[in-house]
Amino acid sequence: MEYDFENRITDPEITADEMLESENPLRPKTLDEYIGQEKAKENLSVFIKAARLRQEPLDHVLLYGPPGLGKTTLAGIIANELGVNFRITSGPAIEKPGDLAALLTNLSEGDVLFIDEIHRLSRSVEEILYPSMEDFAIDIMTGKGQMAASYHLPLQKFTLVGATTRAGQLTAPLRDRFGVVLRLEMYSPEELSQIIKRSAGILGITIDEESALIIASRSRGTPRIANRMLKRVRDFAEVINHGKINAQTAEIALSRLEVDELGLDNNDRRMLEAIVKFYGGGPVGVETLAAAIGEEAITIEDVYEPYLMQIGFLNRTPRGRCITKAACDHLKLEYPEN
Ligand code: ADP
Repeated sequence: MEYDFENRITDPEITADEMLESENPLRPKTLDEYIGQEKAKENLSVFIKAARLRQEPLDHVLLYGPPGLGKTTLAGIIANELGVNFRITSGPAIEKPGDLAALLTNLSEGDVLFIDEIHRLSRSVEEILYPSMEDFAIDIMTGKGQMAASYHLPLQKFTLVGATTRAGQLTAPLRDRFGVVLRLEMYSPEELSQIIKRSAGILGITIDEESALIIASRSRGTPRIANRMLKRVRDFAEVINHGKINAQTAEIALSRLEVDELGLDNNDRRMLEAIVKFYGGGPVGVETLAAAIGEEAITIEDVYEPYLMQIGFLNRTPRGRCITKAACDHLKLEYPEN
C-alpha cells in the first residue's frame, strides 16, 4: 500500500485543516488548564505575577522544543494571564523589515507578539527586531540617494514570545535578547492521557481510563498527535461501537491507522530498518540516511528523531545516528552487535 505522507496521523506538524479550526476549542486558555510542563509553568507563573505587580511588560520569552508540544498554546496563555492582546505571526510570514515595522507599530503597551518559527526570520528583518526588543524603538530608512531619510520610531513596550523547534539555529544576538528561555519537554503517557480525557470532555466523547492511556502511549509524547488520534478513534467508535471508545475500539482503530503500541508508524520503521540493513546499525550521517529513505534531513531531525531518542531507540553520536538494541527488539530485527 502507498503510504500517504501528507496525512500521517503521527505527524506532529499542524495540518491545513487544523490551522483552519480558527478558535481551537481544545487549546487551554490558562496556566491551570495547561497540563504538564511543570517546570516551565512554575517559572512562567512567577514571572507573570511579578510583571503584573510591577505593572511592567513581561520580559521577552523564547520557547523551544519539537512541534506540537504546546508552544503556541503557551504563548496565548501568557497573553491571557497578563490580560493583554495576543498577536500572532511567523518567521517566514515576515518578508520585509517593513512588515515587521507595521506589526510592531500597531502593538499596544504590554501586548504579546508571538513569532512562530523565529529561526526562519530573514537577516534584514532580524536586524530591526534587535533594537525593537532592546530599546522599544526602530529606525527605518526610506528612499534612496539624496532622498534617503531615516526615521526613529518609538514603540510601545511589548513582550515578544518566540517559538522555535531548533534553538541552535537562532543567531546568538537574537537568543541573547530573550530574558526567559524555556524548553518544552515531551509529555509522559499519563500527562497525555489527562489531555485526552480533557479533550474528550470538551468534544463530548465518551472514553474510559484504559482507552485514554492506550491512545496516550501511542501519541509520541505530543499533545497535537494525542488530540488528532482521539478524533480518529472516535470516528471508528461511531461506526463500530455506537460512539463509545473502549480499549478494543481504540486498539482496532490504531492498528488500522498503522500506528503500533509505541506510536511508531511506517516511516519510523522504514528509517530504523534502513539503519540496520544498509548501515550495519550505524553510525550513519543524517544526510545519508535522508537520501536513503527519500526524506529531508530537517524532517528527520525535527519530526522523527526527537521521539525515537526519547524512547531510547536512536542515539545521536558525533559520527552519526545509531540504532539501539531496544529498537531492534521492538522491530524484531537482529541487533548488529558491533
Ligand atoms: P506548537 O506550537 O508547539 O506546535 P500547539 O500549541 O499548537 O503546539 O499545540 C498543539 C495542540 O495541542 C493545541 O491545539 C492544544 O490543543 C494541545 N495542547 C498543547 N499543549 C497542551 C497542554 N499542555 N495541555 C493541553 N493541551 C495541549
